Amino acid sequence: MDKDDVYAALGVRRRINAAGTLTRLGGSLMAPEVVAAMAAAATQSVDIAELQSAASRTIARITGAEAGLVTSGAAAALTIAAAASMTRWDIGKMAALPHAEGFAHEILIPRTHRTGYAHALSASGARLVDIGHNDRATGAGVRGLEAWEIETAITPGTVAFAFSANPENIPDLPMVVAVCKPCDLPVIVDAAAQLPPRSNLRRFIESGADLVAFSGGKAIGGPQATGILAGRRDLIGAALVQQLDMDVAPASWSPPDLIDRATLKGVPHHGLGRGFKVGKEEIVGVLTALERFAATDDVAANARLEERLRRIEARLGGLPGIHTRLLPASETGRVPHLHLVIDAALARVDAIGLSKRLQSADVPVHLSERLAQRGILIVDLQVPPPEADAAIAESVRRALAG
Ligand SMILES: *Cc1c(COP(=O)(O)O)cnc(C)c1O
Repeated sequence: MDKDDVYAALGVRRRINAAGTLTRLGGSLMAPEVVAAMAAAATQSVDIAELQSAASRTIARITGAEAGLVTSGAAAALTIAAAASMTRWDIGKMAALPHAEGFAHEILIPRTHRTGYAHALSASGARLVDIGHNDRATGAGVRGLEAWEIETAITPGTVAFAFSANPENIPDLPMVVAVCKPCDLPVIVDAAAQLPPRSNLRRFIESGADLVAFSGGKAIGGPQATGILAGRRDLIGAALVQQLDMDVAPASWSPPDLIDRATLKGVPHHGLGRGFKVGKEEIVGVLTALERFAATDDVAANARLEERLRRIEARLGGLPGIHTRLLPASETGRVPHLHLVIDAALARVDAIGLSKRLQSADVPVHLSERLAQRGILIVDLQVPPPEADAAIAESVRRALAG
């Protein structure tokens, strides 16, 4: 069955995703080398714990962390990161989760870092404690999070600090680490979508973060249902043992070194993360993709994306009601984007209306709606192959015509 038939047989339409590596559109597309590695992995039996140990070595080498594990997405990685921060090696606490009322279970989170994905942290049973103000984003003032605000918020009930990274707030991370480290509070970084640049694979760990979550199915180009948690060896071990299948005979259980059997009071049961399991195919797939991604040249890749965006821009010249603006990676902090700025009066359709028309075309086209309220649709070419570019431009032209 070829790639067109597999979805057609299910009555599901093929789409062009020029909106970024969005999960709801299936994330990134895997390179043939990654597909082949997954297919090969699917035909042999292995011990998943041993395979996760191998994954840990690869993730450690590439991120600079002490250890790492593969989970079913960055959101799952955040949930087990929160769990590990609460339990450490205490199997009684592991058994209690997500009911954490009986022990320290508070995670500090700056109000400016509150994303919809914060739910992944609280799903562990942890309670999020909001700190700081949002003066900059609301336009109310100039001040951001300050060290004393974190110090004041730390209590015996605090188990971790949650940091949702973006290009604007990354410079705050060393300050956060400087406050949290002396208190033995793990700093958990949500870096799910902070790749590229490739240098961010190491940046958060270098800044002192204890646990960093990356999406495997976004820019890394691995299977959609994978994520990576990289970080401190003890915390990764405590997270791993809460994700692994634990239907084991205690007498014959021989976990990998990553799991500190001597410190565990007994053999834990299936943990909070058991539902975030990944198969051998996903682990091998994301490791293969990670090796490829770590070897890419950001500058060359961005130059290719910019060149493609420039050609799309040229095809859209002279259309009534829209003008274009090309933003290089240096301006977006990530990859180059083409902004389609829509003058709703002239175009007789606003940005969301245009997006709706694009999505209802015979071959639906998705552009990013992130700035639609400001009248802007964003073309992001991380996912579609160059062969799709002409169709993207043509669809915009047709959608504008009604
Ligand atoms: C995509 C995303 C996630 C979730 O990643 P998955 O791999 O889909 O679970 C978490 N946080 C942020 C900021 C994201 O963009």
